[in-house]
Amino acid sequence: MLKKGTKLYSILTGSCPRCHEESMYVNKNPYAIGELFKMHERCSHCGLKYKIEPSFFYGSMYVSYGVGVAFAVAAFVISFLFLGLNLVNTFFAIVVTLVVFMPIIIRLSRNIWINLFVKYEPQELREAS
Ligand SMILES: [Zn+2]
Repeated sequence: MLKKGTKLYSILTGSCPRCHEESMYVNKNPYAIGELFKMHERCSHCGLKYKIEPSFFYGSMYVSYGVGVAFAVAAFVISFLFLGLNLVNTFFAIVVTLVVFMPIIIRLSRNIWINLFVKYEPQELREAS
């Protein structure tokens, strides 16, 4: 379903945005909280430096706002419209959703952020140029 070569693949799997061959993260599991922000320095496959400039990933906070809103809206739709909870419980459902999915939201934002700057270049293409 998810094919290498699409930005979505890199965003959802957290793989290197240039070659899609390996994970950018030391620990792929975002719920290993102690290692949530631990990323490899470079891709061992294509040599891409993930931290393009100092504090590059601070920018991902803008993205995480959008991603957070998307999760909140999803939580709202599910709890208010589908489960028929009242507004107070819906509010709590949204808060719980944001807390529970926080590691995923943070990682997704980083993945989206770096994918805005780096585009997919498979091995063959890079060798040709
Ligand atoms: Zn790579």
